[in-house]
Amino acid sequence: MKTTQTLHTARLNNNCPTCFATDGLELTFSQEKQTNTLYDKTEKEINSKMYCHTCGHDIFPVSWTDDIERVYDYHKKLATPSSTGIRPKPLLYILMLVAVIVVAGIVYYFIS
Ligand SMILES: [Zn+2]
Repeated sequence: MKTTQTLHTARLNNNCPTCFATDGLELTFSQEKQTNTLYDKTEKEINSKMYCHTCGHDIFPVSWTDDIERVYDYHKKLATPSSTGIRPKPLLYILMLVAVIVVAGIVYYFIS
């Protein structure tokens, strides 16, 4: 299962390139996380999204002004990524423990 983890959200005072409102822009940085019963895996890539609450549009980088880009760079530094890689869940440890017990049992059976 893939989930999105929000790292940093900021409301901007910049003009929206679509509707020119100054109070609608919101910038969100997020990271994708893959979850299953055995482990969590966080993707390295940080996604960013700009949305205008006034006109209800996603604002794509192509229509960003220089001001928006400056603010974007500033907020990008504030978005601290989660540590990437695989984080095992308790079930994985339990399965490993069961495997060790089974192997130990087999070894014990053949020795005795
Ligand atoms: Zn807008």
